[in-house]
Amino acid sequence: MNKLAVDGGTPVRAKENFLVFGAPLIEEPEIEAVVRCMHRRWIGTGPQAHQFEEDFKQWKGSKHAIALNSCTAALHLSLLSCGVGPGCEVITSPMTFCATVNAIIHSGARPVLADCDRRTMNILPDEIENRISAKSKAILPVHFAGRCCDMQSIMTMAQQYDLLVIEDCAHAIESQYHDRNAGCFGDIGCFSFYVTKNIITGEGGMVITDDDRFSARIKVMALHGMSKNAWRRFSDEGYKHYQVIQAGFKYNMMDMQAVIGVHQLKRVWRYWEQRQRIWKQYNDAFADLPCILPPEPEPDTRHAYHLYTPLIDIEKSGKSRDWVLRALTAENIGVGVHYIPVHLHPFYRKTFGWEKGDFPNAEWIGERTLSLPLSAGLNDKDVNDVIEAFTRVLKG
Ligand SMILES: *Cc1c(COP(=O)(O)O)cnc(C)c1O
Repeated sequence: MNKLAVDGGTPVRAKENFLVFGAPLIEEPEIEAVVRCMHRRWIGTGPQAHQFEEDFKQWKGSKHAIALNSCTAALHLSLLSCGVGPGCEVITSPMTFCATVNAIIHSGARPVLADCDRRTMNILPDEIENRISAKSKAILPVHFAGRCCDMQSIMTMAQQYDLLVIEDCAHAIESQYHDRNAGCFGDIGCFSFYVTKNIITGEGGMVITDDDRFSARIKVMALHGMSKNAWRRFSDEGYKHYQVIQAGFKYNMMDMQAVIGVHQLKRVWRYWEQRQRIWKQYNDAFADLPCILPPEPEPDTRHAYHLYTPLIDIEKSGKSRDWVLRALTAENIGVGVHYIPVHLHPFYRKTFGWEKGDFPNAEWIGERTLSLPLSAGLNDKDVNDVIEAFTRVLKG
């Protein structure tokens, strides 16, 4: 067998051909649309952002969709719009990106973590129930890697304890659970179009909700707290005075971003099929390696296949996850880690007194998990290189 690149062997891919983790697929129609948008010289929020909202809400079957400049902004305004603030607690998973917890903190509420399942990596309903207190106001489930949380149990619990549900759907654009779309279970669903996500606008996010009041509040807060449709104030309808009715934020999506989303959304299923195919190829190729592979999607659900996250079997392989990361990087394969559990980061430890040992399942995953490239932008050779490199590294 060839020597591993980490030990001085020849890498699976040449250095100049490093496989960037999470590189998106960008096609001619959106490139042309961005250029057209620039020639029109209306690049800020306007008709294209409106179009993207219309397309998205029709696709999701929600009453409202509001395009914003990130999912972080979407989570922040969602929490504020339904009255989450100082004195409240919001329950979420430690197995998430820091943005989920930061949005809770910026709303003024206190984040409360509930451990996740080792297999699905999703928040456990029993753990949520254990953490409910008189201050609990909302549950913020994260559909990890595109696998839906146990929404039946979560929604039942939310009703029983009178809690709001805001879904972090950053991984879950295409996810379904029992014939319902992710983001349509709770009060509000939040999506991301960040460069590594399933469809992209560069930076970008979307809120969906069926609640008129939440939607109206989010629209105002997203643009400085100005009264409605302030973006129209420079249009050909003539100058319009606006009124500031609260101290808002600057969270609007530009037309230049939205035109990318309009075209990407048309290909959402094609991209999904491509990632599903790669996900299955990986699962077949890695079946005999000393790692724990992502389980099949649960019956009557659709997985969004956002991340492919094998867990290194440290005992069987005798290798640490961090060594595997180094070895794959040396093969010129880009990797990710989703995630080091939120509670282990220094800021949260210091602020909330969280410690190692608090969420054993998330920590168990956090020591073993890595993410291999999974994007509609990968060609057959890319996929074969990933398979070859991961196999070599885990066997070698
Ligand atoms: C990417 C991500 C976010 C943040 O999305 P942005 O659009 O980058 O703000 C939030 N939650 C999760 C789980 C994510 O993966």
